[in-house]
Amino acid sequence: AEHAISFGKLNKYYGDHHALRDVSLDVEYGETLVICGPSGSGKSTLIRCVNGLETYADGSLSVLGHAVGDDERELEAVRKRVGMVFQNFNLFPHLTILENCVLPQIRGIGRARAEASEVAMAQLSRMQVGEHAEKFPDQISGGQKQRVALARSLSLNPDIMLFDEPTSALDPEMIAEVLDVMQELTRGNMTIICVTHEMGFARAVADKVILMADGAIVEQGDPEQMFTAP
Ligand code: ADP
Ligand code: ADP
Repeated sequence: AEHAISFGKLNKYYGDHHALRDVSLDVEYGETLVICGPSGSGKSTLIRCVNGLETYADGSLSVLGHAVGDDERELEAVRKRVGMVFQNFNLFPHLTILENCVLPQIRGIGRARAEASEVAMAQLSRMQVGEHAEKFPDQISGGQKQRVALARSLSLNPDIMLFDEPTSALDPEMIAEVLDVMQELTRGNMTIICVTHEMGFARAVADKVILMADGAIVEQGDPEQMFTAP
């Protein structure tokens, strides 16, 4: 496909609330897109459309050459290749850190346990939480939990990563440690969309920034253009 992700005049409603208004947007392979905008402007809804967590009313959406719409098989193909990290980690409290990263591989992509463990350990180490593998989520900090959530997602070898305010539930001293590992990710060839209020981070990593307001993309440009006062 020409673009990694392509929205064409997409509209989304929650009842009579018009949540996405004629959204057209292309994300290129390997690009890091940062989405900014006030609370309630549709940022989360937009990225949740990418892996089919939200449906839409009309328009088009293509992800890695697959049409994201009603076709369940296309949707399944997309979901296997798109990882998502939320603000609240979503780790299973009764499973160890390692098991949190192993189970999705076994259940989601049919990996054998031995290989899944090896992949999980490699990603946990890469995220600098390898030494906590045998602990449970409530035994590590918020910043560590979010890096585990990243390792879990990366263990599934996604081509695209979606981040929905990944640092907004963290204490200030933990934000930097998560942004650091994310910054490393943005240097690779993964395609990344990140909703964030961290402007310094956005400026450092974004290839493109969009600003949303009331369900529409109201500005779009490179970080220099977007963050330089007129
Ligand atoms: P943002 O991520 O920019 O804060 P959201 O995409 O979460 O915005 O929400 C956009 C708008 O849609 C908000 O007004 C929100 O209240 C509304 N909304 C989001 N999810 C739902 C839902 N499941 N049902 C009804 N309204 C929703
Ligand atoms: P975010 O901005 O990250 O989407 P929110 O707190 O707005 O976080 O939403 C949290 C959850 O509540 C989401 O699953 C969203 O779809 C749902 N939600 C948000 N607004 C509404 C709403 N007005 N009515 C029903 N559900 C909503």
